[in-house]
Amino acid sequence: MNLEEDKRKVIEKLIREGYIKSKRVIDALLKVPREEFIPEHLKKYAYVDTPLEIGYGQTISAIHMVGLMSELLDLKPGMKVLEVGTGCGYHAAVTAEIVGKDGLVVSIERIPELAERAERTLRKLGYDNVIVVVGDGTLGYEPLAPYDRIYVTAAGPKIPEPLIKQLKDGGKLLMPVGRYLQKLILAEKRGDQVIIKDCGPVAFVPLIGKEGFQ
Ligand code: SAH
Repeated sequence: MNLEEDKRKVIEKLIREGYIKSKRVIDALLKVPREEFIPEHLKKYAYVDTPLEIGYGQTISAIHMVGLMSELLDLKPGMKVLEVGTGCGYHAAVTAEIVGKDGLVVSIERIPELAERAERTLRKLGYDNVIVVVGDGTLGYEPLAPYDRIYVTAAGPKIPEPLIKQLKDGGKLLMPVGRYLQKLILAEKRGDQVIIKDCGPVAFVPLIGKEGFQ
C-alpha cells in the first residue's frame, strides 16, 4: 500500500479529466491526507475516487467532487468560508489549505459525534483556521457572517434563505438541490439579485434541518 503514490495518481487523473486545473486546488488536494479522515479499515481505499462510509449513515465526498466544488467556488487565500455538513472534516481541510492562515473556514455539522471526531482530526493535523460548530447549518451561522463563500455538502429542497442573507455582496454559494435527482447549483449574490447556474447532476446525502428536508 503506497498512499502517496495513489494520491498523486488520482490527482493526475482528475487534472486529465478536467475536474481540477488551478494550482491552488491541486496543491491543496496533494497536501491533505484523506486517509486521516476515514475509518481504519477503509484507509487502503483513501485515494479511490468515491464516497466512503464514515458512520452515522454519512459519507466522505469523492475526491473529484471536493476538487470540482473548490474550482467552481473560486476560493482564494484570505477568504472567510462557511461549510454546511462537516462530516469527517476532509473537505473543510482542503478549503482551509486554499484560504490559508489569513482565511477562515466555519463548518457546521448536525451530528455531534461526527463534529467531535472531525474537530479532533483537524486539530491533530494543525488546521487552526477551521472552526467546527454543532448545529443546523440550514440556518447558517450568524455570529461570524457575512461570508465570502458558502457551500453545502448535503442536498436540500432549495437554497436556504438564511444562507443567502449571510453571503457577502459579490459572494458565491454552491449547493446540491433536489431529493433523488439532484443538481449542483452555483448562486452569485449581486445586490438584491441572485444569479443561478446549474453545474450538472450530482448525488449527495440529504440536508436535514429547518430549511432542509424534515
Ligand atoms: N464535507 C464532508 C461530507 C459530509 S456528508 C466531507 O468532507 O466529505 C454531509 C454531512 O452533512 C453529513 O455529515 C450530515 O450529517 C451533514 N448534514 C446534513 N444536514 C445538515 C444540516 N442541516 N446542518 C449541518 N450538517 C448537516
